[in-house]
Amino acid sequence: MTIIKCVRHGELEYAWIDGYWFGDTLLEDMLFRVIPDKLHDGEYMVTIDPEFDDDYWDGLNKDKWLREAKDTVPDIDLLICPKCGDNYDVENPYYQEPTKPPIELKSMSWNDVLNSLLKKTDDKYG
Ligand SMILES: [Zn+2]
Repeated sequence: MTIIKCVRHGELEYAWIDGYWFGDTLLEDMLFRVIPDKLHDGEYMVTIDPEFDDDYWDGLNKDKWLREAKDTVPDIDLLICPKCGDNYDVENPYYQEPTKPPIELKSMSWNDVLNSLLKKTDDKYG
């Protein structure tokens, strides 16, 4: 069974993520709960923390943001313990390390090519 665990408080019923992760300044400081699904291992639910489930949402598409929140969970390696507060000190069991495409090397050499081209132009007209 997947467990969300704080180094200080042990097993947690849920951990928080900050809305900033997926909603930028629109949802900054708004906390969402990541709740392990006890029936389906490896699954989790995301809900708006009741404290933040207020009028603010009247003009917003709640379902859309909850979906965004759920999709974002695997991108975050650390979650917030509701007992510790602010610090991201809960290891996210749903974190999926991004697979790095080999594009980094490619773009570096492309930069090199550009730089050398620019340099050549400079040499010519400089
Ligand atoms: Zn804690």
